[in-house]
Amino acid sequence: MQDTYDAIVVGAGPSGSVAAYIMARGGLKVLLLERGTYPGSKNMFGGTIYAVPTAEIFPEFWEEAPWERAVTTEYLYFLDDNSAFQIGFTNQTYGKPPYNKLVVHRGKFDSWLAQKAVSEGAVLQTHSLVTRLLYSEHRFSKGRVQGVELDNGQKYYADIVILAEGINAFLTKQAGLRSDIPAETVKLYVKQVFRLPRDIMEERFHLDGDEGAVYGFVGYPTAGIIGKAGIWLGKETLGLIVGGFLNQLAQKRMSPYELLERTKRHPMISRLLRGAEPIEYAAHMIPKGGFKMIPQLYDHHLLVAGDAATMVSGRRGTDLAMLSGKMAAEIALQAHAKGDFSQKILAGYGWKINESFFMNDIRAKKNYDKYVKKYQDSDYLISRAMNEFGSAYFRVDMSAEQDKMKRIQQELKQMQLPLKSVKDVWQALRNWEVL
Ligand SMILES: Cc1cc2nc3c(=O)[nH]c(=O)nc-3n(C[C@H](O)[C@H](O)[C@H](O)COP(=O)(O)OP(=O)(O)OC[C@H]3O[C@@H](n4cnc5c(N)ncnc54)[C@H](O)[C@@H]3O)c2cc1C
Repeated sequence: MQDTYDAIVVGAGPSGSVAAYIMARGGLKVLLLERGTYPGSKNMFGGTIYAVPTAEIFPEFWEEAPWERAVTTEYLYFLDDNSAFQIGFTNQTYGKPPYNKLVVHRGKFDSWLAQKAVSEGAVLQTHSLVTRLLYSEHRFSKGRVQGVELDNGQKYYADIVILAEGINAFLTKQAGLRSDIPAETVKLYVKQVFRLPRDIMEERFHLDGDEGAVYGFVGYPTAGIIGKAGIWLGKETLGLIVGGFLNQLAQKRMSPYELLERTKRHPMISRLLRGAEPIEYAAHMIPKGGFKMIPQLYDHHLLVAGDAATMVSGRRGTDLAMLSGKMAAEIALQAHAKGDFSQKILAGYGWKINESFFMNDIRAKKNYDKYVKKYQDSDYLISRAMNEFGSAYFRVDMSAEQDKMKRIQQELKQMQLPLKSVKDVWQALRNWEVL
């Protein structure tokens, strides 16, 4: 039958396209459904994909994939109203294969990924919003998943469905694999993209050729909300993002757009943006619930991958999405070979995820929510303290050096910093998130 496939993948983001690619390469008849007008049209992120994990799936992908710049330098700025404490790191070898982080445009990169699946024989269908999972008729229970239905009523059938639908995960919820996503477990970011002539960009940011830089900003931009701002540099575009925990934005009645305007006004940031022409806006959420928010990853004839499965650790999202998509596809291939799509066989996916290096990271941070609750304004306070220290330390006045240092010490003590002991510093470093 024309509308029957071996496997259906919902969502042509990094996790879905990789799952479709691996299954199609393994000989399955695969349908990849995407609600957007093209893969990546609905997807927004900071800006970097990670070369080593991506090459695990597509060796030497940088030869053919569309990328903008290879990040050789990262800066982290702790901002106060008029000052900035900065740290940074540069490594020139990151500018050469096998690279480290590559800045990409999601529209182009996600389209390339989906085309990899198509080149192996997968059918990509865009403008296709899946609204419902289809279940087989069963007298006493809801039966087993046997396909999906689109908003226009079109139905497609398959032995297995992989949900790679991103953070909103409506279908994962519909399948009973996850509950509602609480506001304190997601961060909401807004991104504004600007155009800047290449020669100005390279001169302003000290870049040579395809070298790139990433700027992280803590403190001032988020007005006390736990979150960050950042700048990612493309060839001739520059993306500024800012955002924070959704519940804190709501409590403080701040929209991410207000944070964006505030960030652009900072004297340090406004000069980086000088002359840049705004070309687009986007907003997106990122799951930050960690280990405790991981849904049930499989059911009979059903698997969940990527953001829908909360496979995010710190700044890393696209790579874990792709790796989890690959793992899901590998189990689907095994199930197909056995002709058995029961929970028992698909549990192998849960096992693979559990044994992965990234699950170790996610597990290690399982009390992140408690840290966030306890130290709601830690980023802001640490940033302020560093700026107070910097301002006092670098100011030349008429006091003796020893007296100056004593004064700085007293001022910092009065600030009620959350970092009082070595244990506190360790906790802060463990829970530090640059995004
Ligand atoms: C502000 C921000 C900054 C980030 N920065 C980085 C970074 O620098 N590096 C990094 O690696 N990660 C970053 N991430 C995380 C990263 O973007 C995600 O982890 C990654 O995109 C997840 O991939 P995915 O395929 O699981 O989901 P998505 O990329 O969200 O893709 C899901 C796809 O499914 C489609 N879809 C959803 N529902 C349906 C449906 N019902 N029917 C049909 N199609 C559907 C969507 O249109 C979308 O194309 C960032 C995220 C945010 C929000």
